[in-house]
Amino acid sequence: MGNPLRERRSAAEWAAGTQAVEIAGIIGDFDQLSSIIEADLGVLEADKIPAQWRDSPVTGRLEFGFADAQQMLPVVDCRVTATIDATCQRCLEAFRLPLEVEERLLLLGLEETVDGYDDCEVWELEDTLLRPQDIVEELLIIAVPFAAMHTESAACRALAPVAEQAADEMTTPFAALREQMAKDNEGSG
Ligand SMILES: [Zn+2]
Repeated sequence: MGNPLRERRSAAEWAAGTQAVEIAGIIGDFDQLSSIIEADLGVLEADKIPAQWRDSPVTGRLEFGFADAQQMLPVVDCRVTATIDATCQRCLEAFRLPLEVEERLLLLGLEETVDGYDDCEVWELEDTLLRPQDIVEELLIIAVPFAAMHTESAACRALAPVAEQAADEMTTPFAALREQMAKDNEGSG
């Protein structure tokens, strides 16, 4: 048997089997996610890029079923955990960034809508056949922050008191924009 993550079936077929698909892979299995991480780490000097970033594990579980008693609405409960290597936008050093996603996705055809399922996100099926791998990949990509940063100030070189000045100089345009947006939101808030 192949890896069920890479099998293609219709949403109804996945749901009808109330199938649970275990995720036990590595970052390198996910091409788009890998390109994003590679581009992010690409700003670092070659010797600062973590050598094994593609081997970091991706784990979790997808459980397919139906949201309704009539079995018309396929749904998947997703739990995905990974730790990626990312570049801190404050200090421009690589660090380990944990990603954890829990999401209940309604599997709907394009432009299909339903009422009464506000606890679910909608996953639009662009194809009739669905590959669990693609769901996992997209959930992880969405979970990657726009500007990743050390969360613990002790770990971040830029947050050490002596480095404050340098941190200002290193602020990327994106980070500055993000800060401005946060301020605007507070103002209108
Ligand atoms: Zn940092």
